[in-house]
Amino acid sequence: MPTEPYDFHRCKLCGQLAAAPRYQLKGTCIHVCAACDFHFIDHLDTLPDDEPEQETRTLDVTAWNFIEGRLKQNRRQLGERLTLAGRHRSLAGAECLDIGAGVGLFSHLLQEAGAIAYGIEPQQIFRQFAREKFGLTLTPETIDAPYWQDGFAGHFDLVTLWDTLEHLNFPVETLRDALRVLKPGGLLLLDTPSRDSFFYKTSEWSYRLSKGANPRFLNSLYSARPFRHKQIFTVRQLTELIENLGLETIEMNRSGLLDPSNKIVLVAKKTERCPGSA
Ligand SMILES: [Zn+2]
Repeated sequence: MPTEPYDFHRCKLCGQLAAAPRYQLKGTCIHVCAACDFHFIDHLDTLPDDEPEQETRTLDVTAWNFIEGRLKQNRRQLGERLTLAGRHRSLAGAECLDIGAGVGLFSHLLQEAGAIAYGIEPQQIFRQFAREKFGLTLTPETIDAPYWQDGFAGHFDLVTLWDTLEHLNFPVETLRDALRVLKPGGLLLLDTPSRDSFFYKTSEWSYRLSKGANPRFLNSLYSARPFRHKQIFTVRQLTELIENLGLETIEMNRSGLLDPSNKIVLVAKKTERCPGSA
């Protein structure tokens, strides 16, 4: 983590000092890069490790029931993602890491499929749920930590980031760190909302026409609250990033063109062009 405040004029995708505020939302502002058109908000999370007082939420009955209520829907979607992973690689005995593991549901499904599952989750309340519900021990150390970078370099057959890329402080750096723990030929799977959605575009038009009074979906697509959406990629930006990192795209799908989140689902393979492969 940077020790100085981040300069949001620096684009989080291309690194150029070319980003400027464009859409002022409730409590945050979307910056747009003039060089690569990346959209990201002027907010970074402080991880709980840095600020223990953030760890005040407890897993009481209300929180437990709320999480349980969402598991059913998540189980359907993550079940589809498991099928996708299984189409590209036998999961039995596979060493897998789920980054942004949440309450551990995907790690649990991987274990049921015979894989050896590891999960990273910075939020204590989710780790506690994973332990009590699934008997899983998720790790709070983020992927940039020496725990992973030194201890698991070139280790994993599969690294997954489900609904995670849009939440990260620095998505490019996190993907680079994720690549280092993948085996050569290992697979990276992720999904993330797409900015190419009809809802996003109409929200931008609405913002401009109303001079900022009506940003429609933009307020629900971004938030400065902890662990919420900080950036949304277009398909082109994501596929170019994957290629620039030296990965080979094996499969790319888009779910629900009329769904506000309009997700990009991507499977990519680590090649000899990736950092740490030489
Ligand atoms: Zn840029």
